[in-house]
Amino acid sequence: MGLEEKLPSGFILGKVEDLVGWVRSSSMWPVTMGLACCAIEMMAAGTPRFDIARWGMEVFRASPRQADLMIVAGRVSQKMAPVLRTVYDQMADPKWVISMGVCASSGGMFNNYAIVQGVDHVLPVDIYLPGCPPRPEMLIHSILELHNQVIKGAPLGVNREETIRKVEEAALNAPPTHEMKGLLA
Ligand code: SF4
Repeated sequence: MGLEEKLPSGFILGKVEDLVGWVRSSSMWPVTMGLACCAIEMMAAGTPRFDIARWGMEVFRASPRQADLMIVAGRVSQKMAPVLRTVYDQMADPKWVISMGVCASSGGMFNNYAIVQGVDHVLPVDIYLPGCPPRPEMLIHSILELHNQVIKGAPLGVNREETIRKVEEAALNAPPTHEMKGLLA
């Protein structure tokens, strides 16, 4: 017999991580981080037609201290990379990153010295969103996927820090993309 049967009706049991995850998923605020053409689609997601206000996310925060989600929308130049990292470090914990578009995720068509070949060389990424540019519906889908990840009991406290440390370590140890030959090797 479980504990549930001994309790009066109206009680719900659950893990603290699940409950906290549900609360967090309902209160994400994105920081302003539009870097190139993908940002136009990101801005469109905030308009009444697509309406991310349904999740309370339509106001992109100008201060990292009021934000816990960074949507990297567009290519990341070498000059912008340290700025991106500084803003990320200043954001409230726990925080999440969506890499929006092929440029942010892998450098895209800009396989050159000026562009970081994947923002995961600079930040730990939670969701990669493909496309050039991804439509606002795709961004909304990736936001909902992120909500699901957070609801499913993302690790808390030191466990979350450990997860992020491993992700960052893996990204730093990954071979540079110019060494990846894929199917052409
Ligand atoms: S993925 Fe396409 S739309 Fe997005 S920043 Fe790159 S070139 Fe622009």
